[in-house]
Amino acid sequence: MYRRRRDGGGIPRARGQCPRNRRGAEAALPRSAGRPMIRVGLGWDLHRLIPGRRFLLAGVELPSDRGEAGHSDGDVLAHAVTDALLGAAGLGDIGELFPPQDPAWKDADSLELLKTAYGKVKARGWRPVNLDCVVICETPRILPYREPIRIALAAVLELPREAVLVKGKTNEGLGPVGEAGAVEALAVCLLERA
Ligand code: MG
Repeated sequence: MYRRRRDGGGIPRARGQCPRNRRGAEAALPRSAGRPMIRVGLGWDLHRLIPGRRFLLAGVELPSDRGEAGHSDGDVLAHAVTDALLGAAGLGDIGELFPPQDPAWKDADSLELLKTAYGKVKARGWRPVNLDCVVICETPRILPYREPIRIALAAVLELPREAVLVKGKTNEGLGPVGEAGAVEALAVCLLERA
């Protein structure tokens, strides 16, 4: 799927980059009445880990002597998923929707914040196709808790469990995450027109 320049430069260009074929990549997207039918969103978050807090991932509490610091309950995965959803729908980000300065969100249940964000995405005529997530921390291990976390996210997003995946990784001992001083989460969500 490359075209070569006519000036003999011989540099291959991707199909959508060729001026004569600028609509190539765009035209490949499923569309209805000129509107895109799919959108993708990326979410990322990081929270410090401190004693006296719960370690929550999508509302599931994992056994740990430290948990996520934060204005809300600090649920790093719920926050990353919320940003992925909002980003895909073009609705801004979690900080705009739930400002951390607002006392209303003090110790808020982040799964409830995710439900609110999902309601806004639905109201715009989108529904999730699938969700893929990565949680990076040294401890605790994610794998034993992966299924309840998947089920919790699938329930909020009205998806089958198979459409939600959560992978646990370590940071190989490097940096604040590797020293167990923080937990990080990434999420990618695909939306389609409802
Ligand atoms: Mg956060």
